[in-house]
Amino acid sequence: MAYVVTSACIGVKDLACIKVCPIDCFYDAGEQVVIDPNACNDCGLCAFECPVQAIFRDEDVPEAEAAYIERNAHFFKNMSPEEWEAFRMRA
Ligand code: SF4
Ligand code: SF4
Repeated sequence: MAYVVTSACIGVKDLACIKVCPIDCFYDAGEQVVIDPNACNDCGLCAFECPVQAIFRDEDVPEAEAAYIERNAHFFKNMSPEEWEAFRMRA
């Protein structure tokens, strides 16, 4: 399991989640941030901090936002871990 960033992040992107993630698994995907699904430890701290409730556990993502599960995962599929580093966000 992993947490997933959905559409409510777009237009807000205030980075509150980055400040609490203990393992720095958020990345800058342009209009929104995304979470590395293979790194997320499922702690839930980011979901609690998000002011617009954009972050859900993957199994709890609302049906209308289901495409964002793949959107988060897709970000990591066409890049090497070395390339990801350029987009990694740290507090
Ligand atoms: S806290 Fe929520 S709105 Fe802010 S950057 Fe993170 S996911 Fe986006
Ligand atoms: S659930 Fe925890 S580990 Fe996963 S992205 Fe959020 S703060 Fe980071």
